Amino acid sequence: MPEPSATLSATDPLPWAAILGAGPAGLMAAETLARAGCRAVVFDRMPSVARKFLVAGRGGLNLTHSEELPAFLRRYGLAAPSLRPSIEAFPPAALVEWCEALGQKVFTGSSGRVFPCAMKASPLLRAWLARLNALGVEIRARHDWRGFAADGALRFATPTGEVLQRPTAVVLALGGASWPKLGADGSWARYLPEVEVHPFRPANCGFRIAWSALFRERFAGAPLKRIVLHFEGRVVPGEAIVTRDGIEGGAVYALSAALRDAIDRQGEALPRLDLRPDLNLEEVSRRLAQPRRGQSLSGFLRKTLGLPPVSIGLLQEALHGGASQAELPGLVKALPLRLEAPQGLERAISSAGGLALAELDQGFMLKRRPGWFAAGEMLDWEAPTGGYLLQACFATGRSAGLAAAAWLRRTDQGGASLPRG
Ligand SMILES: Cc1cc2nc3c(=O)[nH]c(=O)nc-3n(C[C@H](O)[C@H](O)[C@H](O)COP(=O)(O)OP(=O)(O)OC[C@H]3O[C@@H](n4cnc5c(N)ncnc54)[C@H](O)[C@@H]3O)c2cc1C
Repeated sequence: MPEPSATLSATDPLPWAAILGAGPAGLMAAETLARAGCRAVVFDRMPSVARKFLVAGRGGLNLTHSEELPAFLRRYGLAAPSLRPSIEAFPPAALVEWCEALGQKVFTGSSGRVFPCAMKASPLLRAWLARLNALGVEIRARHDWRGFAADGALRFATPTGEVLQRPTAVVLALGGASWPKLGADGSWARYLPEVEVHPFRPANCGFRIAWSALFRERFAGAPLKRIVLHFEGRVVPGEAIVTRDGIEGGAVYALSAALRDAIDRQGEALPRLDLRPDLNLEEVSRRLAQPRRGQSLSGFLRKTLGLPPVSIGLLQEALHGGASQAELPGLVKALPLRLEAPQGLERAISSAGGLALAELDQGFMLKRRPGWFAAGEMLDWEAPTGGYLLQACFATGRSAGLAAAAWLRRTDQGGASLPRG
């Protein structure tokens, strides 16, 4: 990683853009600026770039999704109108092309999710950094943005002391607030007091359940395969994992925004778990009406319904909680889970909240800070897992980069200048 170098300033011969944050959004903004012939310098507080992107690669790096664009855009809920122009301009097919041009072929899984064939982020990131280097993008690691000096210069804490920078344009791509140890912790909000920032909340997260000590000891880490989760009329087939203090996994993440909001409203959420979605209630009732012939309850449930130990454990939790054995068929098909709280931001895959979209114009420029642009997860949108997160980060990074490049061109022609912080 290059070492910190001399301070850049608006008096440098060429206008230049500072990109704060070297995740997918910031690096895409930098690539876009550099391709437009602009000087782009990326600053990140961590010793190396794109740490969250690399961690996303551990799960195979679900880059985007192959569904049709109207359905794709609906995944962003209320934020869809703000994100639509960016995603239409850089849709999933363009992201796939971009990835393949970096030497990483992709494949589409049976769920429609798109992954690089390498199923990890490191080869893609390596090729991308080489391209950025060839385009002249400069990357300054270990530069922690700490707000403004009295004259409005950007202040960075670096291992060799404070560094001040006076760019012509700024692209903020500082990320949300999940997995803070990877670099993004939402602390940027304190440096922009004039801008509306909605509180960060966990998204695509697990939830806390007060398991009995016995259940927790036996089943923490156990997968619940081929289950279906029901909540507020939504039906999500998939998998989940029992954790020491609750439940997480794909089916839970898909419902996590609705579950989190229900907990906010009423203190708890009660999704229902179908443990045998392939059997209807009549069939489950018929099988459970068979004589037990001295078998233990767990043996009987295993034999008649083929349930794994963790599912039997869940039914036993319900029985210990006061349900009767006569209710077992209904419990197999719709076992209530009492979710008490979302797991914290430290373990959430993404965050909701962030810089209010109403603060931005169509080019992702801050209305209250001309020449400042913002992109990626630091903006207030959320989406389920499935590639929607990275797609929006890349697409908004590109939009912000294009708009910043246009701003720099106007500056170069004596039109625009960056107001002081
Ligand atoms: C475990 C996990 C798995 C995931 N899997 C997927 C997946 O498969 N598909 C998908 O679409 N999404 C996935 N995501 C989400 C995805 O990785 C993020 O949405 C994406 O990385 C956000 O990109 P970003 O550029 O906006 O922010 P980030 O990637 O968070 O980058 C922000 C950068 O800003 C830097 N920064 C923050 N504050 C400062 C400061 N004050 N000064 C300097 N630098 C600063 C940080 O160090 C960081 O490098 C996953 C996330 C996690 C945690």
